[in-house]
Amino acid sequence: MKSVIESIEKLYKEIENEFERVGQYYNFSCFGCTSNCCTTLFYHFTFVEEFMLQYGLLKLDESTRLMIVENSKSYLLSKENYNERGKFKMMCPANKDGLCMIYQYRPMICRIHGVPSKLVFPNGRVDFYKGCEVIASKFLEFPYVLDRTNFFKSLSKIELDFRKKANKPINYKFKKTIAEMILSKDLENIHA
Ligand code: SF4
Ligand code: SF4
Repeated sequence: MKSVIESIEKLYKEIENEFERVGQYYNFSCFGCTSNCCTTLFYHFTFVEEFMLQYGLLKLDESTRLMIVENSKSYLLSKENYNERGKFKMMCPANKDGLCMIYQYRPMICRIHGVPSKLVFPNGRVDFYKGCEVIASKFLEFPYVLDRTNFFKSLSKIELDFRKKANKPINYKFKKTIAEMILSKDLENIHA
C-alpha cells in the first residue's frame, strides 16, 4: 500500500496548500474559534480514508488510541439514540481538548471544511459552499473559492486503486461517520 499512502499524502498536501491560499485571501484563521466544527456530523465515502485513519491511529500511544475507540462507541450510541429535532452534534471521537489527535491522517472533508468552496458536477451543476459559519458571517461575497472538483476526482482515482489492491468491490457504496471508520474491521487484514 506504499504507493497508495504516497498518493493520498500528496493529495492531502495539495488540499492543504490550496486551503491556505484561499484562507489567506479572507484572512481566515481557526485560532480562538469557540464554534468548533469538529462537532459537526460528517460522512466519509472512501475505504482509503478509513485506511489512512486507522494507519494514523496505530501511530498513537495505546491510551490515546483506546480513548478514541471508547469515544467512538459512545458517539455511535448517542447518534443511534438521538431523536431530537435538528442535526445531531457531538464532538468527534478523535478530538481531545479541542485538538485533533489524528491531524495528519484526518479525512478530506476535515481539510476542506472552513473556507468557501465549490464543486462542479459532470452535468455542469455547480454547488457552492460559503464555508464555516465563522467565515460565512464575515463576508457577503466570495470571489475566491477552493475548487473541490479536482480533489474529489483525485480521491476517486486513489480509491479505485486502493479497492483493487485491497480486493474490495468497486461498486460498493461506502458511507460512514468517523466513529464507524474508527471501529470498522473491514480493513483489518490490509497492512501498510
Ligand atoms: S473551520 Fe470555522 S468553525 Fe471550524 S474551527 Fe475553524 S473557524 Fe471555527
Ligand atoms: S478527524 Fe480531526 S479534524 Fe476531523 S472532525 Fe475529527 S477531530 Fe476534527
